Amino acid sequence: MIPSPAPPAAGPAPARRSLWRRYLDIPLIWKMAVALVAGAVAGLAVGEPITVIQPLGEVFLRLLQMLVMPLILLTLIAGVSSLSPARLGRIGAKIMVYYLLTSAVAVVVGLGLGLAAAPGAGLEPPAGGEDPEPAPPVTETLLNIVPDNPFAALAEGNVLAVMFAAVTAGLALAFMRAATDERTAAMGELLARAVEAGVELVFRVVRGVLEYAPVGVFALIAVVLGQTGPQALLPLLELTGVVYGGVGVQVVVYALLLALFRVPVLRFFAAAREAMVMAFVTRSSNGTLPVSTRCAGRMGVDEGVSSFTLPLGATVNMDGTAIYVGAATVFVANVAGVQLSLEQLAMVVLVGVVASIGTAGVPGAGLIMLSLTITQAGLPFAAVALVAGIDAVLDMVRTMCNVTGDLVGTRIVARTEPGMLHDPDEEKEEGAGGGGAAAPGPGTPGGPGPAATAP
Ligand code: ASP
Repeated sequence: MIPSPAPPAAGPAPARRSLWRRYLDIPLIWKMAVALVAGAVAGLAVGEPITVIQPLGEVFLRLLQMLVMPLILLTLIAGVSSLSPARLGRIGAKIMVYYLLTSAVAVVVGLGLGLAAAPGAGLEPPAGGEDPEPAPPVTETLLNIVPDNPFAALAEGNVLAVMFAAVTAGLALAFMRAATDERTAAMGELLARAVEAGVELVFRVVRGVLEYAPVGVFALIAVVLGQTGPQALLPLLELTGVVYGGVGVQVVVYALLLALFRVPVLRFFAAAREAMVMAFVTRSSNGTLPVSTRCAGRMGVDEGVSSFTLPLGATVNMDGTAIYVGAATVFVANVAGVQLSLEQLAMVVLVGVVASIGTAGVPGAGLIMLSLTITQAGLPFAAVALVAGIDAVLDMVRTMCNVTGDLVGTRIVARTEPGMLHDPDEEKEEGAGGGGAAAPGPGTPGGPGPAATAP
């Protein structure tokens, strides 16, 4: 998977190798952009039969997913062990305030645009409609954050529970390293170095997997558009427009927030674009974590911040999903011919923000949140089936927004925490097996912490 370094060639290199080298030399973002456009065209032109290439996209998703749990566990232990508990608490408080506020703004954007554009008025609800999934009680969601078996949590892919276990281990490791007893401190150091090595290993694999990204991106986008097709999209064009427009508004909100904290906006988006494209095609904030962590490293964000804020954001912060829930609720009400009361609107905002906390960043999670909101607001459920028909197309843009929001918060928190920002690394392209540019950024892991003393 990892491109092997080419041996020095005596005389002209064989054509096959030089083509591969040339492929590696093209910046990843360009390869992904070409694949995105080509995949979209192929999907729309070929239609349903394009689904034969689905395994090509599926394998890409699996390769990314394969990295998520090891990445969260290792980077978080490494990151937390380099922070003081007080600083971790401060980072946690700041990012939670940011996540909750931006999610609330996002639901209001979705509702506002929905009410202004009135999508769905005049459409007929389909007969029937499935019953919504029952929502787990909030206490259960909160209780599940503490794993009774961390290995089971890892195996199940339970992000919040794994984060809890990793933060605990990271804090204990920090205390070990700071111990006055020499033996304990030495063991702590050894363990920290091993974890650091594990982080490096994961990022080497990420880099290899990303060389396959163009094929994966092509297949994923082609299959979604081939399956959905213009026939399904056209009647719901208004709703699609509102959700895409809402994400546009939210991106402006992000730009303003970045500017407010004096973060260079264009440089931010230049460093974030790989993760944005990846989120768009994979429709999974969790699956995008290896790439978003890498992008945060390119922005110069210390791993002490990103290893905590990004996995947390992938689960609890879903601005794009909140926009979608707001807009789609208005759509469902319009199809059913129901006027939304102020009380129902308030309920949508509340459920939109709270429900996202327990929902994992996986494809289609927003549809479950929508079902929940519709039920809570007491609206007829039938029209949700219409939304479900084009959910994948809406999921792409909302996941992109979700991941962008996580990165904006991460960058802002790093900006406000002394020592948590290093020299931005985004200019360097990773190219062929080179060492420097993959995240985490300089000072891996944890920058100024004792773990950064690798020779
Ligand atoms: N797919 C989204 C995510 O992973 C969640 C959603 O369905 O809205 O962030």
